[in-house]
Amino acid sequence: MRVFKFGGASVKDPNSVKNVGKIIKQYGDEPLVVVLSAMAKTTNALEKLTAFFMEGRKEEMYALFDQIKAFHFNIARELFEYPSHPVFDILEQSFYHLYYYIREEAGTNYNYEYDRIVSTGERVSTQIVNQHLKDCGISNQLFPAQKLVITDAHFRDARVDWILTSRAINENLSPYLKPGKNNGKPSVVLTQGFIGGTRQGFTTTLGREGSDYTAAIIAYSLMAEELVIWKDVPGLLNADPKFFEKTLLLPNISYQEAIELAYYGATVIHPKTLKPLLNKNIPLKVKSFSNPAAPGTLINDNFKNDDLVPSYIYKFNQVLISIFPKDFSFIAEENLSRIFSDFASHGVKINLMQNSAISFSVCFDHDRVKTPALIRDLEKNFNVKYNHDLRLITVRHYQKAEVDYLLKGKKVMLEQKNRTTLQLVVKERPTT
Ligand code: ASP
Ligand code: MG
Repeated sequence: MRVFKFGGASVKDPNSVKNVGKIIKQYGDEPLVVVLSAMAKTTNALEKLTAFFMEGRKEEMYALFDQIKAFHFNIARELFEYPSHPVFDILEQSFYHLYYYIREEAGTNYNYEYDRIVSTGERVSTQIVNQHLKDCGISNQLFPAQKLVITDAHFRDARVDWILTSRAINENLSPYLKPGKNNGKPSVVLTQGFIGGTRQGFTTTLGREGSDYTAAIIAYSLMAEELVIWKDVPGLLNADPKFFEKTLLLPNISYQEAIELAYYGATVIHPKTLKPLLNKNIPLKVKSFSNPAAPGTLINDNFKNDDLVPSYIYKFNQVLISIFPKDFSFIAEENLSRIFSDFASHGVKINLMQNSAISFSVCFDHDRVKTPALIRDLEKNFNVKYNHDLRLITVRHYQKAEVDYLLKGKKVMLEQKNRTTLQLVVKERPTT
């Protein structure tokens, strides 16, 4: 059996939903699990709605609620011609649930409320697609992800209980996924990405962009023959076309290479997605939903092609701080452990670090709240120098000439190199 994942862009409007139907139809006679995201930018909108709810900004909240509801009903009205189609009642109910919830006073646990509200996006997108597939003659079963992906109660960033999850997925989905006619049961199962549930039945989410991860969890649990992530790009590219004129498609890379790329900031695949697949050697394909016949990128256990082309990853809005002991001590174990514990307690993830005898330099993503709080704490024990508005460039399998070209007009603040990876923290030189 296979697992497919369709993201928000692949269900952004009526025609995209129809396209998803066409792709599934090509595979629909074989057992298939389809994992779906919220439509277009719905998750962002629901995040905003949650903020209004928490802050008691009721008027803005209801206005946004109406917008989100209208967006989904407009898509449904184009897809389903008859006003008496069951989809309208189903959607009406889902939105009524949300409406009913946000009419009440908000609780104090922001993350709990967030998961409760934001998960509506995936719920309604799967309801629309479920009905559309039926109308296309694709018999399919919609199954709630809360009952498949069992997590702890760490709302907004829930951790998966792998044993319970594997068991739940196998018990609930296997009856549908037998090859052949299977007594008329649907062979396509549809479920929500991003959403999980605790054993007590509370809704959780797996972190933004978590639908890829859901798909990997299901593929892992069912030992799928492959996972296909359908995207609005032809596959994994060696650089972001927003910043590079010429980009190359990577036809085949290893899991390890893909993990490194995701870790350094390539945004095409959610970093957590790859580990479960690697552990069971399940191939991952990244394919274009607008050109389904094209091969896209294959990620598997083959290392041979990893170093054929260099890959470039940019991370913007970086901070570089240099930390100096106030006394005469060196940067050694005791100071390092104090520094790391400050980073850990502020939840700041280190992107790059380097030390000398008397200084320690660290590069990380700037955050309006966390950065100043971290620096304040560090300054209790150290002198701290601070640089902001920097860019972290990571080049895998670098070639010197191209890197030289890339660095023209930029001031390198920090450089680190190993056999495969070059990392540079740079400041754009002001053009005077
Ligand atoms: N809808 C969620 C988000 O936009 C999850 C996902 O798309 O993967 O973050
Ligand atoms: Mg999304």
